[in-house]
Amino acid sequence: MAKNHIELQSDTQTRPTPAMREAMASAEVGDEQGFNDPTVNALVERVAELFGMERAVFLPSGTMCNQISAAVHCGPGDEIIAERSAHIVGVEAGGASVLARAAPHPIDGTRGVFSAEQAEAAIRFPSRYAPRSRMISIEQTANLVGGTIWPLENIRAIVNVAGKHGLKMHMDGARVLNAVIATGVSAKDYAKGFDSVWVDLSKGLGCPIGAVLAGSDDFIEQAWRWKQRIGGSMRQAGIVAAAGVYALDHHVERLAEDHANAKHLANRLSTVNGLGVEPDHVDTNIVIIDVSGSRADAPTWSKRLGDEGVRLSPIGLNTLRALTHLDVTSEEVEQAADIFARLAEGELAAA
Ligand SMILES: *Cc1c(COP(=O)(O)O)cnc(C)c1O
Repeated sequence: MAKNHIELQSDTQTRPTPAMREAMASAEVGDEQGFNDPTVNALVERVAELFGMERAVFLPSGTMCNQISAAVHCGPGDEIIAERSAHIVGVEAGGASVLARAAPHPIDGTRGVFSAEQAEAAIRFPSRYAPRSRMISIEQTANLVGGTIWPLENIRAIVNVAGKHGLKMHMDGARVLNAVIATGVSAKDYAKGFDSVWVDLSKGLGCPIGAVLAGSDDFIEQAWRWKQRIGGSMRQAGIVAAAGVYALDHHVERLAEDHANAKHLANRLSTVNGLGVEPDHVDTNIVIIDVSGSRADAPTWSKRLGDEGVRLSPIGLNTLRALTHLDVTSEEVEQAADIFARLAEGELAAA
């Protein structure tokens, strides 16, 4: 699968490796919705164990994990407390208000992370006038603000606040394993006290499709009803689940390489005139690049970098986001930094 560009747009852009494809091709399969697919069963057991939860369910996407969790935890008119930049707030086409019929209650954290005090302040005083606060969602790692890791003490304090007020705790763990590898804190420790938690297989883990949602027996039972209801039940899904099992065996420890590559990219770009990059804020595999000090806006940078063979997207008028992953080598990171520097010193130079 030759590619002729440097792919920094997203960790979703990876292609399954030959070994992963082999694992998929030779997977034992059955009927997933009848619980008769041995490979899906192995995957969900593995992820339940990873998070220290009773059970898990295989779903086609992380978005569906968030949506089903909201639908199980919340009723019509309820509120979901989440950080303003969170995927469940701004990247799921308002799904929570359609399926769960719950409203997001966005709060402003620092690089995607809010405190227990902020969470508590956002909980409505129970009253027939107010929406009912029902669920707190945290995103580990916080994606759109640069892959920030939520510190364990911070998470624990929020879990306590939720317990005190009878709210459900949900973790959007799309990249939770990046946090695990960066900190050495286990997924089980991060997930302690949560009512629902999931991991995406199609981000840093390099699978083509899929996510796994974990929780109590009762939660997963209800999640299955939603999965059925919205058309997420599958058949011989072991073909795809095999990629997940393979990735959990082979693509977790290596996330450290992505983190080192992201840090290196940030360090190099931070020395380029006209680019604003803060290496100290690069916790994992995501680098935020502010181009407001240069002559061009982010879409122009994206276009010109694309012409030079570096693919990455603007996430704001003056902001680019670069992600490292399985399909970006340290040499490519070096080349990308050279191209950035060349453009910044030349045609896109600081005014
Ligand atoms: C990608 C992502 C999702 C959604 O996952 P999909 O598999 O793309 O549906 C949710 N939350 C975060 C933080 C993500 O990065």
